[in-house]
Amino acid sequence: MKYSYISHLYCPKCENTYDTKEQHQLCTCGSPLLVDYHWDELMKDVNPKDFSTRENTLWRYHELLPVEDERYVVSLGEGMTPLVAMPTLGKDMDVKYLYMKDEGLVPTGTFKARGAAVGISKAKEIGVEELAMPTNGNAGAAWALYAARAGIKSTIVMPIDAPVITRNEVALSGAKLYLVNGLISDAGKIVAKAVKDHNLYDASTLKEPYRIEGKKTMGLEIAEQMGWEMPDVILYPTGGGVGLIGIYKALKELKYLGWVKGKLPRLVAVQATGCAPIVKAWEEKKYESEFWPNSRTLAFGINVPKALGDFLVLDAIYKTEGCAIAIDDQSMIDEQAKIARLEGAFICPEGASTFVAIRRLREKGWIKEGETVVALNTGAGIKYPDTVKVNVPMLGKEDVI
Ligand SMILES: *Cc1c(COP(=O)(O)O)cnc(C)c1O
Ligand SMILES: [Zn+2]
Repeated sequence: MKYSYISHLYCPKCENTYDTKEQHQLCTCGSPLLVDYHWDELMKDVNPKDFSTRENTLWRYHELLPVEDERYVVSLGEGMTPLVAMPTLGKDMDVKYLYMKDEGLVPTGTFKARGAAVGISKAKEIGVEELAMPTNGNAGAAWALYAARAGIKSTIVMPIDAPVITRNEVALSGAKLYLVNGLISDAGKIVAKAVKDHNLYDASTLKEPYRIEGKKTMGLEIAEQMGWEMPDVILYPTGGGVGLIGIYKALKELKYLGWVKGKLPRLVAVQATGCAPIVKAWEEKKYESEFWPNSRTLAFGINVPKALGDFLVLDAIYKTEGCAIAIDDQSMIDEQAKIARLEGAFICPEGASTFVAIRRLREKGWIKEGETVVALNTGAGIKYPDTVKVNVPMLGKEDVI
């Protein structure tokens, strides 16, 4: 029995393959690389029933993850987040079987820690000593903190508008942190140059192949938590798209292994109306997106004007007969409050966008009566202290209520 059944890296565009013992970034053709495994061996050696007796973290799926030597695993206990039934909200939107996968309970408060835990562990295994990445906030926070735990140096560049809380997380981790008066795409250009000049490992979204494997565990967990059955629909707030690509990869792998049966769930990419390149491409039946100018949304985790993996996101949507839908900021905020009121969950605006999407898709009949629907809440509401505005009556000490 091996700890990991990883076999090689491959390019989904030109089918080039690469060794996993060396450090690789993009394919020579410019596409992101994906990880493949020794499926036949894995099938023989692993029974999905084994997982339930293992530790309650994403590392319970280590055979399907890229780290080969357990000693390189860098963990803060991430993964196995609850799949919470939302009966009252479900009733309100006429979706009887509504669930929320709550990623707010992961270390650093967002699902980004999944990608960071697996990405950093593998980086350590292949000898990375120093990395750099641009971020809208949450990814940088997760990567800087996991890098600190791994003893890897990091350089992080983020837009000046990124939330102060994520800025503080990065600064406290001891990373080299820079702010830029621009967007994540501007931060990306600065990082690309620094990587060349100083020979750093580029940990930008999809420029290293392993964070997808970390994010894929959301799909593995959903399947296991539903008793190795699949829901009908899974919705995901989509920025760079790695979460959606990861979930799709997980479901395909589980299907190939024969651990789940039947049709794959329809995957839905949810974006903000102020930044919806994937939605536009999907509406125009295209296989790639275009740069979205002047992108703007308070759901900063999904403010990505052009994703490197857009073609993989669109492929996942088309292949599963899913769809893409854009939600305005005000509707996210209203839904966020509604969810707190009806279900007692304080979720992030990105997560709230998926519930608005369910509401709209159910009204249109795209989600049918009696279907099982899973929404990803990608982060904790408490990571967004400034998004919520409330009016509270002020009392004098002698006032009565
Ligand atoms: C990064 C982020 C997203 C988008 O995830 P991708 O995998 O980049 O599409 C959604 N929600 C939150 C809270 C995020 O931080
Ligand atoms: Zn290629």
